[in-house]
Amino acid sequence: MTIAIIGIGLIGGSLAITLKENGFAGRVIGIDASQGNLDKAIRRRLIDEAMPLEAGVKAADLIVLATPVDAMLALLPQVLDLIEDQVVIDVGSTKAELLNTVDQHQRRGRYVATHPMAGTEFSGPEAAIPNLFDHKCAVLIDTDQSDEDAVERVRSMYNSIPMSIVELDREAHDLHSAYVSHISHISSFALALTVLEKERDEGRIFELASGGFSSTVRLAKSSPDMWVPIFRQNRDHVLDVLDEHINQLARFRSLLIKKDFDTFYRLIAQANDIKRILR
Ligand code: NAP
Repeated sequence: MTIAIIGIGLIGGSLAITLKENGFAGRVIGIDASQGNLDKAIRRRLIDEAMPLEAGVKAADLIVLATPVDAMLALLPQVLDLIEDQVVIDVGSTKAELLNTVDQHQRRGRYVATHPMAGTEFSGPEAAIPNLFDHKCAVLIDTDQSDEDAVERVRSMYNSIPMSIVELDREAHDLHSAYVSHISHISSFALALTVLEKERDEGRIFELASGGFSSTVRLAKSSPDMWVPIFRQNRDHVLDVLDEHINQLARFRSLLIKKDFDTFYRLIAQANDIKRILR
């Protein structure tokens, strides 16, 4: 199978290595807005060749959109205009706005919306790694609006990695993504800004940074090019969960002011319940 990947960064590049390595893809074509990224992708052997959009789409059996989510809004209808019966997927982190733009497209059935729930805080083809997706979860969204054979091809792609598959509708996907992914990024950006503001002597941060600080603030290294479009598209759900998060922070603040450490203890014990879900 020939796969064309549009946006050969962390996710597109990692998918390219994985599918080439496990034999699902015989040939991988890279398409990217940046010639520099295409050159790096060829040097790293993430792709077999680089092509312009139209030629790459026409040469592929499966087309993967892996750009930031704002660029997908224009790219997806363009790609659906170019295909005949090939299958198109995206790997973006938000779904409602993208799906709304192609609901009426005559080739809507050839498109399957997906979100592999795996990533790192790094970007670009140099960040692509094998095994990124192993045993993680891939969400397929609104599959009842895609052709059955297209969904089957996408299922076999994710199964080949191997990943487990969950199906959701667009609203549920965006709501749950706000809870499990988007809020933790805002929280990490805010924590990084808090500590940078309070501790202007960066040498000290570096010297004292322990495992706890580093792991909590890791996501703050993530790229604004990728994250601002996600917050723009999922604004309402993110605002909802952010309000709850601010309430929780205010609750801890008020307990500290009141020196109510018994309740503080109880809340931490309650938070420890997360161990039941995440080991
Ligand atoms: P990335 O490393 O920045 O890669 C995106 C690539 O797309 C870059 O090479 C970028 O080039 C290129 N690009 C931007 N606009 C383009 C356009 N109009 N046409 C063609 N190429 C274009 O980002 P990523 O982390 O792989 O994220 C890609 C997608 O996966 C996003 O939609 C994101 O929401 C989703 N996702 C990310 C994660 C994660 O943890 N990172 C996890 C799951 C899903 P430039 O560098 O020149 O802009």
